[in-house]
Amino acid sequence: MFPLLFYTITDKCISCGKCARVCPLENISMLDGKPRWNGNCTHCMACICGCPTEAIEYKFISKGKRRYYMMEE
Ligand code: SF4
Ligand code: SF4
Repeated sequence: MFPLLFYTITDKCISCGKCARVCPLENISMLDGKPRWNGNCTHCMACICGCPTEAIEYKFISKGKRRYYMMEE
């Protein structure tokens, strides 16, 4: 299991649920309108790169970095 506490969301999250919908492993649950990462992640980065507001960060590594694509649903 990956240390999923590495994923954080900022106050830019608009609770759209796209991160949960695009995860190929259905690893993200929406809880009280916010994503929660579970224990089945491949680190494909679809959630991070698909977030329309860039609200998801991975540790300190993703901060200030551009996302590589915007995944369509
Ligand atoms: S895709 Fe981004 S804005 Fe939408 S619920 Fe997930 S973290 Fe929040
Ligand atoms: S990195 Fe990929 S597999 Fe892991 S939670 Fe995000 S979308 Fe799902």
